[in-house]
Amino acid sequence: MSMKKFHLIGNWKMNGSRAKVLEFVNNWSSFNSDRVVLAIAPPFPYLGMMAKGIPQLKLAAQDCASIDIGPHTGDVAADMLADLGCTYVILGHSERRASKHEDNLLIAQKVSRAQASGLIVVVCVGESEEARNLGKEYDVVLGQLEESIIYANPEALLIAYEPIWAIGTGNTASPEQASLIHRAIHEALRAKFGDLGDQIPIIYGGSVNITNALNLFRAPFIDGALVGGASLDPKSFLALGSEAKASLAD
Ligand code: PEP
Repeated sequence: MSMKKFHLIGNWKMNGSRAKVLEFVNNWSSFNSDRVVLAIAPPFPYLGMMAKGIPQLKLAAQDCASIDIGPHTGDVAADMLADLGCTYVILGHSERRASKHEDNLLIAQKVSRAQASGLIVVVCVGESEEARNLGKEYDVVLGQLEESIIYANPEALLIAYEPIWAIGTGNTASPEQASLIHRAIHEALRAKFGDLGDQIPIIYGGSVNITNALNLFRAPFIDGALVGGASLDPKSFLALGSEAKASLAD
């Protein structure tokens, strides 16, 4: 069985411009590792530019439609993302769950549509601060997980655990907090998919930066990171790549 890869996926959210992508491309330096995968998810209009600029970087999209190509003004089909060279698509990010009212059923449909187009899906789950204070973090996370991956193919699937209270706040989960939830996710995936479930990378997201990365990356059951703010600057994203390599060398 092949060794599980460590994934670092940069989520630019609705940030960037042509100038910003060019600056990112021009300041990129080559990164080599057969165990660490680096991917960036710029906004849709910049996917092509990013793909052309840095061929060694995998391309990710931040969302896709749950439906096929057709009369759906403003939507972007999974087939189009695959056609542009995307490898991954992030689905069910907490910002979309909150502001676009995406529920688990819709996310499950997107997962199925995206996988049918050949994309690897990154399904995001995570509890609010309120849920954690009530001791309901496992209920929330495992509930979202179960319903969002109901139709999923385990061979083209990553799970991102992103506690909402840690996203963009600088208030990262401790390696122990993240690791405990990752273990619960791991067990749920194993219960659902058997041995294939063991191979699904579970990545952490929420204020990952150069000062906290190594300890998080070394923690059990953490197979990568979904990185927001620290992915906008190529030097800091590459530095996270080096921390990932260092964590694997332990
Ligand atoms: C994210 O956007 O998924 C994220 C984790 O953001 P940040 O790293 O900025 O907290």
